[in-house]
Amino acid sequence: MDIIFLNPVFKQMIWGGSKLRDFGYDIPGDNTGECWAISAHPNGDCIVKNGEYAGKSLSELWDSHRELFGNLEGDRFPLLIKIIDAKDDLSIQVHPDDSYARVNENGSLGKTECWYILDCEENTTIVIGHNAKDSDELADMIKNARWKEFIREIPVKKGDFFQINPGCLHAIKGGTVILETQQNSDITYRVYDYDRLQDGKPRQLHVKQSIDVIKAPFTPEMTEPVVSDLGGCKITHFISCDYYSVEKLEVNGEVTFDMEDYFQNYSILEGEGKVNGTPVKKGDHFIIPYGFGEYTLSGNMMLIRSYVE
Ligand code: ZN
Repeated sequence: MDIIFLNPVFKQMIWGGSKLRDFGYDIPGDNTGECWAISAHPNGDCIVKNGEYAGKSLSELWDSHRELFGNLEGDRFPLLIKIIDAKDDLSIQVHPDDSYARVNENGSLGKTECWYILDCEENTTIVIGHNAKDSDELADMIKNARWKEFIREIPVKKGDFFQINPGCLHAIKGGTVILETQQNSDITYRVYDYDRLQDGKPRQLHVKQSIDVIKAPFTPEMTEPVVSDLGGCKITHFISCDYYSVEKLEVNGEVTFDMEDYFQNYSILEGEGKVNGTPVKKGDHFIIPYGFGEYTLSGNMMLIRSYVE
């Protein structure tokens, strides 16, 4: 059985930069905003690099080789892992939950997502939540463009982790690089775009949908990381929610795991080492398939691991 290494898909964005080159990628331009690292989404379906399934897309593996994922049910691979380089501010947005998306977005999934801050410039902030006291005030603030009062901005630093539930207003601000783990969905409602123009026109806003789905008042989702030291690897468990569990692994030496999940996604975000003897480095992404058994990580590297339960 092979570990499944994937080729990322890159996305040019008006707010993107060139920092994804630091991961060793040959990016398509100086405004590359997103690396879709582990994705079976039709807008960016990653191709397998190695082994028996080389050249197949992750969605093909999901459709035709479900045994690799423990015969997990579902019509699509459940997660999407991205690295995001925001040179400029992203629009202020919100995602629906599964039930709203099912009815209003042709059966699509909603989106729960989370962010690990890989890097940010000094004095960087992000937008999480808002200051409206109830849904009437929320609607008024959006309809009357009371953005300064409405938007809740907080400082961020490298190593911070944020869980963004459906209905939570959010935006990444310029100068931030993050690893995002999310449900496999592309449904985004744009609330405010700083009145920017793209090709001479403002990008579409989704006022009605935003007012429908933003929860008011805002209550921060407090996550309490749990750290365990295995000797050779420190694990920081950030979250387990209905859609995923996300952990940071800091390997310094060697550690062996017994694979007991449906599958595990790995992204190497710093350093280099080996997985079962195969050399790996910053910027590599791979999936440990179902029933793989024991595997060993060694070297000096930081990884984010995600899985479903
Ligand atoms: Zn989002």
